[in-house]
Amino acid sequence: MQTLQGTYFDGKTAQAHAVNVTIQSDFLTIHFVNSTASSGQSMLLWNANQVQLKETTTQQWEISFEGATILVADAQLQNILSTYWGQNNPALRQKNLFNYLRNRVVALCLIATGILAIGYFFILPLLCDVVAENMPYSYEKQLGETVFNSMVNTADVDSTRSAQLQQFANGIQFGNKHPLTFYVVNDDVYNAFALPGGHVVVYNKLLNQMPTKEALAALLAHEVAHQKNKHALKSMVRGIANYAFIAILTNDVNGITALLIQSGGNLKQMKFSRNLETEADDDGLDILKNNQLSQKGFEQLFDVLGVAEEEYPASTFPEMLSTHPLTKKRLNKAVETAKKQTQILPHYQLEKHFEALMAGVKQQ
Ligand SMILES: [Zn+2]
Repeated sequence: MQTLQGTYFDGKTAQAHAVNVTIQSDFLTIHFVNSTASSGQSMLLWNANQVQLKETTTQQWEISFEGATILVADAQLQNILSTYWGQNNPALRQKNLFNYLRNRVVALCLIATGILAIGYFFILPLLCDVVAENMPYSYEKQLGETVFNSMVNTADVDSTRSAQLQQFANGIQFGNKHPLTFYVVNDDVYNAFALPGGHVVVYNKLLNQMPTKEALAALLAHEVAHQKNKHALKSMVRGIANYAFIAILTNDVNGITALLIQSGGNLKQMKFSRNLETEADDDGLDILKNNQLSQKGFEQLFDVLGVAEEEYPASTFPEMLSTHPLTKKRLNKAVETAKKQTQILPHYQLEKHFEALMAGVKQQ
């Protein structure tokens, strides 16, 4: 026998009565504390097989019998009733069925959410990479053009120096299958990036700091390596896919074009993971080696970036500083690789193009 406190409503008036509910093996005894039932009785008996049970909130239960109800604020009520009445009591059986169904539906929803989450975080990125890897070059180029054109509208492209940078770059074999186009943009950022399709943008602030042709070659080689490995393309495809995934879930499939432009805008601040930076460094070092250009260019480039890093607000690190702080590992790798290099040519023609490109800077 166990007694709980409750609030009784007769189902006819709004009046609440404080009651003590005593649970026994076949029935409930309801004792009115300060009042009586409308019938004048101070005690009621409810048959255990005829009551109904409903959970109104997580902490409160409603016991009903012939139109009257008692609210009991005890989260354990169902368990207490089970110990006195057994699982086969009709009210509890119905309740157990309801709980069973509710728990199963919640479990199914969790599983579905889990599958969606796995799909979103693991499968979608892999599929995006497959899409990017297999995208025909014409589409990749079109994507890069769209982004470049939206960027050029607001950028100050230096056409003279762009032509000089192009001439410089033409003296380097990047191992590219498709044409590369180089641009110098006047802006107060230490930045450079490569777009899908082959546009490579170098900002004059970073370009002006290049101490040697080898350092500039290292910078271009690093960026071209990103483009050849489709790093930006993969990132853009993922961005679009993430948007589409959310758009489908929220039934809002407008604005993909706007997103495309926006993701292009973000390319200027694009940051790659440590692994992708290492990949771009490694491939860049190979490009210098294949051209018999001194790989010390990378060390010189990292020196410039190291200085740039100190004066940069952390939130606006450019692509080249993606792995801020420039890891010792990246620098050491470049230094060690350069030590083993045996065949280096002076590249007089490249030197001339470098001097032409930097002539204005030296006069300043
Ligand atoms: Zn990079």
